[in-house]
Amino acid sequence: MNYYNLKEKTSYLNKEGSFLVKKSFQFAEKAHQNMKRKTGEPYIIHPLNVAIKLADLKMDAETISAALLHDTLEDTKTIFDDLQKEFGQKIAEMVESVSKLKQVKYKTKKDSIENKRQIETLRKMFVAMAKDIRIILIKLADRWHNMETLSALESESQKRIAQETLEIYAPLAHRLGMGELKGILEDLAFPYAYPEEHNKISKTAISEYEKRNKYAKNIANMIRKELKQDHIKAEVHCRAKHLFSLNKKLKKYDMDMNKIYDLIALRIIVSDVKQCYQVLGMIHKKWKPLLGRIKDYIAIPKPNGYQSLHTTVFCEKGEIVEFQIRTYKMHREAEYGVAAHWHYTDISEPKHFRNGLILDEKNSKARAEELEWVKELAKRQQELKNSQDFFEDLKIDVFKDRIFVFTPEGDVVDLPDSASPIDFAYHIHSDIGNHLYGAKVNGKMVPLHHALQNGDIVEIITAKNVKPNLDWLKYVKTARAKERIKNFCYKQKTRI
Ligand code: MN
Repeated sequence: MNYYNLKEKTSYLNKEGSFLVKKSFQFAEKAHQNMKRKTGEPYIIHPLNVAIKLADLKMDAETISAALLHDTLEDTKTIFDDLQKEFGQKIAEMVESVSKLKQVKYKTKKDSIENKRQIETLRKMFVAMAKDIRIILIKLADRWHNMETLSALESESQKRIAQETLEIYAPLAHRLGMGELKGILEDLAFPYAYPEEHNKISKTAISEYEKRNKYAKNIANMIRKELKQDHIKAEVHCRAKHLFSLNKKLKKYDMDMNKIYDLIALRIIVSDVKQCYQVLGMIHKKWKPLLGRIKDYIAIPKPNGYQSLHTTVFCEKGEIVEFQIRTYKMHREAEYGVAAHWHYTDISEPKHFRNGLILDEKNSKARAEELEWVKELAKRQQELKNSQDFFEDLKIDVFKDRIFVFTPEGDVVDLPDSASPIDFAYHIHSDIGNHLYGAKVNGKMVPLHHALQNGDIVEIITAKNVKPNLDWLKYVKTARAKERIKNFCYKQKTRI
């Protein structure tokens, strides 16, 4: 990989865009001069690969530039002002945000409910801190390349990074509708996170994959002929299920491979929705569908916007085969998710995704809370997409009223905007709140009414003899802190 690969991949950019990319590459190359990665390669190979992945998604020039520069603040002598001078405020801020996201670190908790809560908070924090969704995409591409080169690290880091990828990054990709990337990240993490399981499943799956692939190819040819007769222009692919998701599914079915119908699925891609149903009819006429396995995600899309028709049929020789039928547009959205909407060349067809966000009521009730912020995010994207400054101003407002701060141990705490150290203390424990004496933010003492900010590390100092007072009520935002302060103060009064 070298600059010319990137140049070729970014040929969709205009002249200024290409110039910006070139300039960013030269700057990054110079900044990382003489640095090597753990793999032994020159460091620039890493940002270059990250940029190329984003160019494959046809991202805008600013994103490619920020991707090339993404490690300069962290690892080189470059400072924010240098970037601002050379590349402007926006790109400098994007690079700074990417660097800040390094703080979001996953660590396993013993208690599983506690662990789940932590993971969800971390994901939210990630999105909140990113501010601009392009930064999340840079981070995902960064993680993708790091996972590809994970073998160069020590085994302890390998395991932690793989786990973090499974818990934070892959689900984020999923929520952003980037199904393919989710699968890629999971499969890259799998052997490091669960080496024994990975070993076992690889052995059993390989021969099965080969057998079914051969069979699926024959079916694909039959379908192609049939489509041609019906004058439907279509692409037919055989699609192997990702190993990690296969393993997950097998666990649900007593590891019985015969119950997995989508190990190799056949995907038929056509030009419009009408043809999707036409093809479905053609398949059902030819082969009998399994009851309850016909899924119309075109009429009722999945919460993350996914659209397709799925059906499972008794195919040739009684084998059970899954078909997925979709338009090119749905296909692109299923693979690239939100990124598909920023396709540089394709800024003006907004409707589908918005439709994709209309949820059926049951589904939306059950998972409303979990999905609310993703929906918001996507809706926001949609609005911005229709506005002129589409690329300029992709701020994430979903969490504008929440902040995420850390304990000195690195646990993340989710608080309302402009919460104070008093809120933080009561969030940790009422005893801590009741004996709050002082607070340090990022190592410095601050007054108790100090407004906390995203990413702050907050340390509480307690003393035996101090007590809460009613003045504190002016400085707290959380209901919990208010209630505890009042409780304490009124109890004191009645005692006197
Ligand atoms: Mn990096």
